[in-house]
Amino acid sequence: MAVAVNSQLNPLENAERQFSEAAARLKLDAGIMELLKRPRRATIQWLPVAMDDGTIRMFEGFRVQHNIARGPAKGGIRFHPDVSLEEVSALASWMTWKCAVADIPFGGGKGGIKVDPTKLSRTELEKLTRRYAADLSDLFGPESDVPAPDVNTGEREMAWIADTYSMHERRTELAVVTGKPLEVGGSQGRREATGRGVMICVEQMCKHLNMPLKGARVAVQGFGNVGSVSADLLARECGAKIVAVSDVTGALYNEDGLDIPALIAYAASHKKGIAGFPGGKPLTTSIIEYDCDILVPAALENQITSDNANSVKAKIVAEGANGPTTPDADKLLEAKGIHVIPDILCNAGGVTVSYFEWVQNRMGFYWQEAEVNTRLREKMVKAFGDVIAMKAKTDAESTVSLRIAAYMVAIQRVLRVHELRGMYS
Ligand code: NAD
Repeated sequence: MAVAVNSQLNPLENAERQFSEAAARLKLDAGIMELLKRPRRATIQWLPVAMDDGTIRMFEGFRVQHNIARGPAKGGIRFHPDVSLEEVSALASWMTWKCAVADIPFGGGKGGIKVDPTKLSRTELEKLTRRYAADLSDLFGPESDVPAPDVNTGEREMAWIADTYSMHERRTELAVVTGKPLEVGGSQGRREATGRGVMICVEQMCKHLNMPLKGARVAVQGFGNVGSVSADLLARECGAKIVAVSDVTGALYNEDGLDIPALIAYAASHKKGIAGFPGGKPLTTSIIEYDCDILVPAALENQITSDNANSVKAKIVAEGANGPTTPDADKLLEAKGIHVIPDILCNAGGVTVSYFEWVQNRMGFYWQEAEVNTRLREKMVKAFGDVIAMKAKTDAESTVSLRIAAYMVAIQRVLRVHELRGMYS
């Protein structure tokens, strides 16, 4: 069954609730809390596009820089009809905390255009992407704001952004955006990085819980970049069994394990997703409630809510997506003893290899995939350990979730930089 976007749930309010809980645990001063909560800058663009039929259509775009204390704003660009300033603001703040948990020298940003890209031709999409990049060329830059892919954008759009920015600068500047094709300064391993990070976090969590990952039954919601790679690596490198998968076109299950490489090939060849794949049966109930050991939500926000959290059967929820669990649902999962690996830790692999891509662009020297993957593993294992250690330390006072522990690690790191830099006012 396809996941539904619940427009009643405001991701910005959810992000602020999560932040406030962690800030309270850290006993932050009210003024400091405001400083860390508010975005540094938020912009709205109205983007005209000359459509193929000769008409002109206006599209609404956003870019939010949440915090740049630790380095340039970093965060993806989403193309989706439900994109809003509030959603982009929430996603930008999650990027600040994610970069800090992963301990990479970036702040947080995010962008988006309110558009259904499936309704535009390739030419129209290219015009829209370039117009957005041109409008933001004063903000974007390797030292100031570095976009990346998100839902419905990928290597192709990143190449257009790199080209547009470079044309305006009158020189080739590849470090302005990450997630580019390899031939245009992309990094080995970037496309798989978010899913690889999810896999590493699941491995670490299983080790922490003394739970075998080999043979564990996994359900994955969303079969795009993050979902498909997470599924593939968990099956191929860890011996887990992917028993259910869903995307916008439908959901499938197979208790013997879905053949993920075949499903990836099928979804790509059909361009329409996983529906109709002969190696699985259609799933007519919600994948979130599927009886499995590990659930990987890898689609959009607000998929695990107070309406369905009590029906989650997995022992581990590994958040490939940003904001898939609402704060109310978090409490219900916690009460059931379900271990949630929070988004700002679990999906930090993408931005970590984006950082490696940016470093390689600036060095002009490119690493082998094995080196990228080794460095990614080091970063993810360290981040996971830091969050577990924060939880253990805080639990001594009173129990805290892994999400709040991750926020606490991140907030402390960002705050420390603000303290050292001092207040310019
Ligand atoms: P994508 O566009 O490659 O894939 C999204 C998947 O979700 C697709 O399979 C699509 O069918 C499904 N989906 C989208 N809307 C849906 C709906 N309304 N109903 C059912 N299914 C729907 O995107 P992605 O890059 O894989 O991103 C997925 C999530 O992971 C997002 O929350 C994104 O912010 C997050 N994320 C992505 C990256 C990255 O590197 N791409 C990094 C960190 C976090």
